Amino acid sequence: MSASATAVEDGRDTALTSVPGPILLLGAPGVGKGTQAKELVKHWGIPQISTGDLLRGHVARGTALGKAAKELIEHGNLVPDSIVNEMVAERLKEPDTVRGYILDGFPRTLPQAHWLDGRLAAHPEGLPVVAVSLHVDYNQLLRRITGRRNCPACQRIYNIYSNPPRREGLCDVEGAALVQRADDTEEVFAERMRAYAAQTTPVVEHYRAHGRFAEVDGDGAIAAIAAGIVAAVERLRK
Ligand code: AMP
Repeated sequence: MSASATAVEDGRDTALTSVPGPILLLGAPGVGKGTQAKELVKHWGIPQISTGDLLRGHVARGTALGKAAKELIEHGNLVPDSIVNEMVAERLKEPDTVRGYILDGFPRTLPQAHWLDGRLAAHPEGLPVVAVSLHVDYNQLLRRITGRRNCPACQRIYNIYSNPPRREGLCDVEGAALVQRADDTEEVFAERMRAYAAQTTPVVEHYRAHGRFAEVDGDGAIAAIAAGIVAAVERLRK
């Protein structure tokens, strides 16, 4: 196994290489984008920017943006591009994004992808974007979604079937009671999959055509998948 793969498995907190720049994690709901983004954060020391997490933060704080987004999220519909783009623009102003960042759950529509491409093209001194699309089959996505539980204190992600906490219903680290996202039900999952097929599949095709694109099998051990993503990004950066 390569040194970088070992580092992912060890969870060492070091940026081993200067590979980063912007990295997109694409894939259906439940494919493991959030889990894998957290592995890549450990590996490269660059931030994860999850538009889902940012939106849920707004909902929890009861901001105007959160009030506009709440119902859409709970029904599995996408939040309007202008709102999400603006939120990403704000986040990208933070200095921790200078070396690179992992976009998790963005872009999800072609207009979002074109907005991001335009933004990156305006900074030609930066590294080009690399896109990694994760795949697992439908039934497994459903199991992952309905089994997913989150720690409200540290945001660790568990799965009651495949990655349960040591004590039922409690975070291993914080001891906090785990929660289930309101949109992680079978009914809302079906709607999220419809939104994915209609609006996000064209985004995957856009980046596939663009060249710096890899598909990674999202089925297997978390560390092994992370090692596969790291290898793909390193190859695409050459
Ligand atoms: P996620 O945590 O990525 O599964 O996102 C949860 C929900 O937040 C989605 O089902 C959408 O309602 C909303 N959302 C997250 N990212 C985006 C995005 N890039 N564009 C539009 N809506 C989004």
